[in-house]
Amino acid sequence: MLGVALCRRGEMIRHRFHHRVTLPRSRGMTRKRRPFFGPSEKRAVKRAMMRDCSRRCVYCGECLDLAVATIDHVYPLAHGGANAPGNLVVACAPCNRLKGDMLPHEFFFSFPQAGLNFLSYARVVHRALKRSARRAVSLALAAQPVAA
Ligand SMILES: [Zn+2]
Repeated sequence: MLGVALCRRGEMIRHRFHHRVTLPRSRGMTRKRRPFFGPSEKRAVKRAMMRDCSRRCVYCGECLDLAVATIDHVYPLAHGGANAPGNLVVACAPCNRLKGDMLPHEFFFSFPQAGLNFLSYARVVHRALKRSARRAVSLALAAQPVAA
């Protein structure tokens, strides 16, 4: 139910925060990203993430099946986030799409409920991510104290 609400509101928000910059792709200039996981390990990673996130979408809290769960990079790859444990969570496809390339604090500021779910379900993410989520949620809740 929350997922639907998030998606509907997200359509407006997404454009506001969508500022992707195209950089020249030259081998010398960009840091080579070494993949942490091969495609064969992806399924095992997903299973481990499912276990670590209580088999729920960390943003809307909906129970997830392995088949429908998607891996989300909390700090997006597009912004230089790591493809490694500590930055990975499971999310349902609508939440993952909604979050897109938003930075975690932007996303949690716009959707404090998603931030609260993230804090309770994403137990194994990096401490800095939790800290920034907690800050974004309290800022958002302070900004709109009547919404509950
Ligand atoms: Zn979700």
